[in-house]
Amino acid sequence: MRPAIPSSEAATRAPAVPRVTTYPVDGIALADLPRSASSPLFDRLRPVLGQVNLRAPLLREATRWHAHAIGGMQRRFAQPVTFTPYAAVQPCSARCSFCSENLRKADGGTPASRLRPGPSYFEGLSRALQALRGVPLSWSLSGLETSDDADWMLRLLETLAAGENDGPVIEDRVLYTNGAGFAAPRGGVLRRALQDFGLSWLELSRHHHEGAVNQAIMRFRPEVAVGDQAVFERTARQLADAVPLRLVCILQRSGVAQPQDVAAYLAWARHCGAGTVVFREFSRLDDGYRDNATARYLRAERVSMDALLTACLDDPALSRGWAIESLTEGYYFWNLRLRAASGLAVVFESSDYGAMHERHATGDIYKLVCFPDGQLCAGWEPGHDVLLDTRIDEAQAHG
Ligand code: SF4
Repeated sequence: MRPAIPSSEAATRAPAVPRVTTYPVDGIALADLPRSASSPLFDRLRPVLGQVNLRAPLLREATRWHAHAIGGMQRRFAQPVTFTPYAAVQPCSARCSFCSENLRKADGGTPASRLRPGPSYFEGLSRALQALRGVPLSWSLSGLETSDDADWMLRLLETLAAGENDGPVIEDRVLYTNGAGFAAPRGGVLRRALQDFGLSWLELSRHHHEGAVNQAIMRFRPEVAVGDQAVFERTARQLADAVPLRLVCILQRSGVAQPQDVAAYLAWARHCGAGTVVFREFSRLDDGYRDNATARYLRAERVSMDALLTACLDDPALSRGWAIESLTEGYYFWNLRLRAASGLAVVFESSDYGAMHERHATGDIYKLVCFPDGQLCAGWEPGHDVLLDTRIDEAQAHG
């Protein structure tokens, strides 16, 4: 369904806040570019960039912080900020060996991927949205696979759309998916629901352009149709006809790792209808994680985004006609966006969980996650940085 408040009207409820601040590349302190400026590529990029985008606000940029009281405390929300209603109705339809949902903090409790929503999850979600009334934010629909349970996904979209009436002020609406539900019998219903929801774009994961190689990486369960290459390609094109489509490829040694892989993936992505391709490096980990099978896979299979991008730029057959568009430093990531001669937008991205944890530890709010147990938290760990426990609210309302 369409959000009840059109974005133009919603904009009158909160001042428009710039999502990035743009600085001349020679006019910004390198300390304000902690990840991109430490890339071996940065000096090479500097002359062609001219300027850089800071997506995370500096502490001194007062207009890019939104003050709001939640859970009885006055907090500062970085702008932009995203809200994730963490999907975990059932285990994911894929079993990617690199899946960050299987990383475990050494001091962690029950991981989000093991929580399952109870019958009052959506009532709790609605309460969380009311508590965020007036906060500018974007929906970032992820967790496990949102589309694996069509009923849950439809109820989620309905709850979020209703929440826009009297809750946060929504900027972007983005879904991250492996595509499974869109290739299942109710895929058409889900596609139309996304259009009605006003989805800004969809990020569709596929980590290699050849079906067998991708299946070795993503390990879709046997009954999941989208594991098949022809089914995936058809599903991707249907999605591309409905909403702006970004294909997401996580770089890894057994997948896309060399410039020729990048070239083949880009050609294939156009055939699938994508307007943007995102190549992401595995997130860099700090030492707070247990040495489990996922952490070992990340160590063994890591492909450096900087090194691969450098090799692509050094390969004239591949990068001829590429136009560098922008460099963006986020609160725990940086990316380089360029335009291929074909018109395809291409993003190379690197992120660092250590930087993310440092930001979250400041007490300022950079991320919002509503977990299946009904807690609204300022980060990805259930039970940590809890802003609101909608179950307690519910008990008090009925007490
Ligand atoms: S599709 Fe996403 S959530 Fe599912 S296993 Fe792969 S990385 Fe994890």
